[in-house]
Amino acid sequence: MLERRVLTLWTETGRNVGDAAVLRTPCREAASPFTPETLRNIETLVKTFLERNDALGLAAPQIGISERIIVFRNKDFEEKNWSRKEDDYDVLVNPRITQSRGEPVKGAEGCLSCPDIQVEIDRFPEIKVRALDRYGKKLNRRYLDFLARIAQHEMDHLDGRLIVDYEGSLWYPKKKERFFAEVLGVRF
Ligand SMILES: [Zn+2]
Repeated sequence: MLERRVLTLWTETGRNVGDAAVLRTPCREAASPFTPETLRNIETLVKTFLERNDALGLAAPQIGISERIIVFRNKDFEEKNWSRKEDDYDVLVNPRITQSRGEPVKGAEGCLSCPDIQVEIDRFPEIKVRALDRYGKKLNRRYLDFLARIAQHEMDHLDGRLIVDYEGSLWYPKKKERFFAEVLGVRF
């Protein structure tokens, strides 16, 4: 199956209303055992993720699939040419946080669906997650620090939540100030 385009809240010229509607829609749970459609969706998401070198993670709604599936690297966050071995990324279906621990920590996040900006967001430094793996088997994972941040970011996508929904400081290129004043409106 072909890789898919990543949907964005805006383009070079302004708000992207069609993409935003998809990105903002909460995703449905995948049925278990997986249907052939769910298996296809997992394959498409993983393939699209692996074909990019600018993604730490990707959530199904970002490529127009409204199902609760996410994928993200679990190491080598700085590397463009990372291994792409199956052990080096996690695929979670119907992920749910079962425990969050510690004081939330601030950190700047970007998102392929919100090009050119970064937002400072508070995230728990430790979470436990229950999910199904790409084959439909139950799994429990504990994520710490930056990995916990990535997992929380990707899970937000499944509920239609994006980094622009957080109140933290915002960074964008100075030359695009007017553009973002228009696109993000009330934030400025
Ligand atoms: Zn994102």
